[in-house]
Amino acid sequence: MAKPVLLAVDDDREVLRAIERDLRRKYGSDYRVLRAGSGQEALEIVRELKIRNNSIALFLIDQRMPGMSGVEFLAQAITLFPDAKRVLLTAYADTDAAIAAINEAGINHYLLKPWDPPEENLYPVLDELLEDWEAAFPPQFEGIRVLGNRWSPASHNIKDFLARNHVPYQWLDIETAASDSEVRSLVELLDEEETRSLPVVILRSGVRLRQPSLAELAEHAGLKTRATEAFYDLAIVGGGPAGLAAAVYGASEGLRTVMIEREAPGGQAGMSSRIENYLGFPSGLTGADLARRAVVQARRFGVEIISAEATEVRVDGPYRSLKLANGAELSCHALLVATGVQWRKLNAPGVERLTGAGIYYGAAMTEAMLTRDEDVYVVGGANSAGQAAMYFSRYARRVVMLVRGSSLASSMSQYLINQLKATPNIQIEFNTSVVEAHGEDHLQAISILCSETKKVNKVPANSLFIMIGAAPNTEWLANIVERDARGFIYSGPQLTRDGKRPNGWKLDRDPGLLETNVPGIFVVGDVRHGSVKRVASGVGEGSVAISFVHQYLSKVV
Ligand SMILES: Cc1cc2nc3c(=O)[nH]c(=O)nc-3n(C[C@H](O)[C@H](O)[C@H](O)COP(=O)(O)OP(=O)(O)OC[C@H]3O[C@@H](n4cnc5c(N)ncnc54)[C@H](O)[C@@H]3O)c2cc1C
Repeated sequence: MAKPVLLAVDDDREVLRAIERDLRRKYGSDYRVLRAGSGQEALEIVRELKIRNNSIALFLIDQRMPGMSGVEFLAQAITLFPDAKRVLLTAYADTDAAIAAINEAGINHYLLKPWDPPEENLYPVLDELLEDWEAAFPPQFEGIRVLGNRWSPASHNIKDFLARNHVPYQWLDIETAASDSEVRSLVELLDEEETRSLPVVILRSGVRLRQPSLAELAEHAGLKTRATEAFYDLAIVGGGPAGLAAAVYGASEGLRTVMIEREAPGGQAGMSSRIENYLGFPSGLTGADLARRAVVQARRFGVEIISAEATEVRVDGPYRSLKLANGAELSCHALLVATGVQWRKLNAPGVERLTGAGIYYGAAMTEAMLTRDEDVYVVGGANSAGQAAMYFSRYARRVVMLVRGSSLASSMSQYLINQLKATPNIQIEFNTSVVEAHGEDHLQAISILCSETKKVNKVPANSLFIMIGAAPNTEWLANIVERDARGFIYSGPQLTRDGKRPNGWKLDRDPGLLETNVPGIFVVGDVRHGSVKRVASGVGEGSVAISFVHQYLSKVV
């Protein structure tokens, strides 16, 4: 945590240096001592500290300064740091003015210059004030702050990205400026241009990023966006359960391993509010916890995790090269594709326009707190939708599940169906689908079609979470690996047709169980044609694939 600041202001350089020296000597280990030669200069420091969310514990200010008196300075500075203690420095002749200022600027103390020896005339006063300050002052949040608008898709994407990458951040909603002094003073300090181009991300250093892309944010949030080596034994694209398991097994068995993930490690599982059927966790665990543990484990074995999107693969003899969206490239002997699936889009008027502004794909857990005491609509009838409904029921007044079919039995696990039935604020509407979303800048209502009555009912709604199945996103691999009509990648025996090995296959063996039609390129998890779409099967495939990688490497290296 950054040390709180003691700010000394005096236009007499000699005196200022003496104050600074005395302050540092006694308080330097617990506080940061800053100095300014004028009220104006001090105000600039104060504004910058506010933007960085640092705290000021004490102002030690000379009263008689040209341009701006100590009291005039304090009148402005305390609007930004109202809890800071204030000590005015006066010459003998100023004492009347100083006493009067105690009322005007709420000065806690005035000190006569010079104060030698400080042990008698300075420290006892400051000790008492700083003790009071420390006792009353809550520690400031020091991570990244995001100033934006609840209904802005860009704000949602930034919050979601930071949360899923376990980067602590503070959300400041500009709409609350009237009631939240923290937000108000920040808005006043930013220039107009910045408040017009929200979201603004304020880094710990004070640097502000206006509407940053996720790649830019990743770079500034301390995530690694480029590989440190040019060449690896194993490169894994996708950091869901399958990719993470492969990374842990690969690195633990001595392979130089890099894992490239474009959003956040954990994949779909990372978005699950509670996974209850994963072996070894009888009371379930959140997807975020599973992802966090797996990332720690992977890092412990030396896996390099890169936050970037893989956009191109090249095959060059025994080498496989990857191009990333940020322009970086890396090569490897073995490549493992674990890119999973992404949410299928709901095709209805208004939905695309309002996505991120009240409509979200997946459970979007970052939005859950904001749905407190509201009605939440969840579209879908599979486990993911059921989990989301259970999760939102903790916050929302009512959760309405809109299910296209006439029952949940064929699409959802029985334990979840039981939980939904036992939760009083969850309502399940069968035979329904969303046919239109309404709202200007954010979702305000949805039209629901009942397939039995053919009636369309328009209901007010601020939050709609869509979970209607998923599809792979493998276009970038289209010219490299063989895929089915929906984009899932074939592997192993699926590639041998009428006893013939795949086109272009030159080796005197069949493709290995999880190998694609390109030797040394493997596929695991949900993106694989015919895979079982579960966390445990992804983890199983990811770990098993490593033994095929070893077999492959033993022939090429
Ligand atoms: C909300 C929800 C709840 C679920 N609950 C359960 C449950 O309780 N039990 C259970 O067994 N299963 C559950 N599942 C299913 C389970 O999460 C998936 O089967 C599992 O996550 C698949 O793992 P995967 O690694 O194959 O792919 P994914 O988890 O989809 O991960 C793929 C990763 O690859 C990344 N990626 C994609 N393309 C690129 C690229 N070009 N470059 C870089 N990175 C890329 C993605 O960002 C993603 O992080 C749930 C799924 C969801 C969505």
